Amino acid sequence: MKRIAVLTSGGDAPGMNSAIRAVVRKALYEGIEVYGINYGYAGLVAGDFKKLTRQDVGDIIQKGGTSLYSARYPQFATEEGQLKGIEELKKFGIEGLVAIGGDGTYRGAHALTQHGYPCVCIPGTIDNDIAGTDYTVGFDTAINTVLDSLDKIRDTATSHVRTFVIEVMGRDAGDIALWTGIASGAEQIIIPEVDFDITKIAEKIRQGREHGKKHTIIVLAEGVMGGNEFAEKLDAIDNFHVRVTVLGHVQRGGSPSARDRVLASRFGAAAVDLLKEDKGGLALGIKNEAIVSNPIEDVLDKLETTSNLALYQLNQEISF
Ligand code: ATP
Repeated sequence: MKRIAVLTSGGDAPGMNSAIRAVVRKALYEGIEVYGINYGYAGLVAGDFKKLTRQDVGDIIQKGGTSLYSARYPQFATEEGQLKGIEELKKFGIEGLVAIGGDGTYRGAHALTQHGYPCVCIPGTIDNDIAGTDYTVGFDTAINTVLDSLDKIRDTATSHVRTFVIEVMGRDAGDIALWTGIASGAEQIIIPEVDFDITKIAEKIRQGREHGKKHTIIVLAEGVMGGNEFAEKLDAIDNFHVRVTVLGHVQRGGSPSARDRVLASRFGAAAVDLLKEDKGGLALGIKNEAIVSNPIEDVLDKLETTSNLALYQLNQEISF
């Protein structure tokens, strides 16, 4: 391949810029031209392309968000949209595509693959909810952002002997809640993968108080229920006066961590290596610190929860 394109789609994640930079720089190093596509699949269909130079991706490795912008574009689920996208790519003489994003982004790339167009996917989402990879770009930064808030909330919770519920992102996967719950010493983690018993949690809070615990921190993944709803359920059992903090979109932003920048750089270069060899229909991942690739269809609609359950159990054992 002599000309490829790169886009970011779905929810933005810190480190997407580091990945874009690596795609562009590695491609140019290999003598391949790169086009950037603005606004994900919406820009693909609209032909919103621009040729990228090495200078265009200067000064972005450290920036959160995505310099190619992102968009939700449900119309790309139609064959009409997909074929129009391929037509635009061919118009520009572009032979392969790097798609950076989450599960939905993978689905779009899979559709293009089925139409015979080569795509390589890079997992970019703070949720860490993609199969075939131990980590996604953005997850490390997001958990450190959440941890910073949890540490601050703990200060005030301890001073006033309060119970806090902190709602974090994670619709289907509880990784953000798990990692930050353990790292902050939270008393309870609630995730979609594991059922919970609210009366047992209330009992745990009471016992903690009897043993002199000054605070109770409960980290709740949004996919289970809203923080306010959970707090109401707890207060209905006992008058805990539970306080709620919903961290929201602050979790998406910020300068990517060193880990996310390195991971994104490795993925970006690996994507170019695959397309250079005319290999498409693949999703990149990192497994035991090595970069791997799997057919996109093998990682769609799957969640890997094994490590989650071990971490959940660990927290149950060491939090009280
Ligand atoms: P995150 O999970 O971090 O929000 P995501 O990539 O899963 O990221 P989505 O909004 O689900 O985010 O998907 C991104 C884009 O991918 C959609 O706006 C749409 O353009 C495209 N897409 C999603 N599902 C499909 C599908 N079934 N077929 C083709 N394209 C799709």
